Amino acid sequence: MSDRDLKLLSVVAPVYNEAATINEFHRRVADALGHLEFELVLVDDGSTDGSAKAIADLAETDPRVKVVFLSRNFGHQIALTAGLEHASGDAIAMLDADLQDPPELINQMLDEWRRGSDVVYAVRAHRDGESAFKLATARWFYKLFDWLTSVQLRHNSGDFRLFDRRALDAMLSMHEGSRFLRGMSVWVGYTQSAVSYNRDARYAGETKFTLSKMLRFSLDAIFSFSGRPLQMATLLGFLISALALVAIPVVVVLKIIGAYLPGFSTLEISMLLLGGIQLITIGIIGEYVGRIYDEVKGRPLYLVRDRINLAPGPPDRPGEENPELTAD
Ligand code: UDP
Ligand code: MG
Repeated sequence: MSDRDLKLLSVVAPVYNEAATINEFHRRVADALGHLEFELVLVDDGSTDGSAKAIADLAETDPRVKVVFLSRNFGHQIALTAGLEHASGDAIAMLDADLQDPPELINQMLDEWRRGSDVVYAVRAHRDGESAFKLATARWFYKLFDWLTSVQLRHNSGDFRLFDRRALDAMLSMHEGSRFLRGMSVWVGYTQSAVSYNRDARYAGETKFTLSKMLRFSLDAIFSFSGRPLQMATLLGFLISALALVAIPVVVVLKIIGAYLPGFSTLEISMLLLGGIQLITIGIIGEYVGRIYDEVKGRPLYLVRDRINLAPGPPDRPGEENPELTAD
C-alpha cells in the first residue's frame, strides 16, 4: 500500500479543570508535532477552575488551537466525542490533557498510519502514578469485558488512539449515548495496529474519576457491547427451575418414608435466594431498559456554549442556531 500523505493532523484533548497543566500540554504538543501541519482541538468540559480562560488565551496567541466550550460538564467520553466531531484532519489523534499520554508518541502512531493502519492504539507497557487498586480493577475489567463481549479490546489500551479519517467517520456515525469510545473504535474494524508506551503520572492535579464514575463507565462499556448478562439471567432462571424440579420428588419420597420435617430454614434460604436472584435479573433488564429510554429520548450528546477558531456548528444540532426551529 502506498504511503499516506498527511495534509492535516488533528489532536483532540478533553479538558476538565486542568488549569495547572494546559500550557505545558500545549508546549509539549507544539514541540512534538510542530514540524507537521496540525490543529489542536481542545474541549472545555465545563471547567470551573480557570481552564477556560487559559485555553482561550492559548487560542488567541496560537491559531492552531481550536476550542469547543461545552455548556456544562458532560464527562470524558462525550467531551472526546465533541472534539472528534470538530476535528478536520485526515489523521486524528485523541489523548488526555493531563500529560499521562505523551504527545511525542503521536509521531510513532503516524508512522503506523502512513503504513496503512486506520486505527492505531497505544498500549501501556507500564503505568506510573496509579494506585494498586486502580491497576487491579482495570485488569479485572478487561478480563470481564473479554468474557462478555465479542469486541477484541487489547488489555491496557485506553483512549489514546489515532484514527484515519474513514475510521473516525465510521465511529462518528454511531450515535449511541452511552459511549465507550475504545470499544467503538475496535468495532469499526478496518486495519488496526498498536504502539506501546509508558504511561506517565499526571503532570498536576488529581484524577477526575471517582470510584463510582469508574464503575458507571465499566457498566456502560459492558451493557453497550454485550447482551450476555440477559442470557445469563435466563440461564439462571432455568437452573433454579431445574433445582425445584429435583426437589419435588425428594420431598414426596421423604413424606412417604415418614422422614419429612417441616424445615423453616430451608424455606427461608430458598425464599431469600429466589428473591435475590429475581431482583438481580430485574436489575439487569433495568440496565438495558434505562439505556433504551435514553436512546429513545434522542437528546443531543452535548451542547456547545462557544467556539474559538472554529466555524459555527452544524445547524442540525438542537440548542444551536437552527433556522428551522426559529422560523415563524
Ligand atoms: N475529563 C473531562 N471531563 C470529565 C473528567 C475528565 O474532560 O468529566 C478529562 C480530564 O481533564 C483529562 C482526561 O479527561 O484530560 C482524563 O481524566 P483523568 O486524568 O481524570 O482520568 P484518569 O487518567 O485518572 O483515568
Ligand atoms: Mg489522567
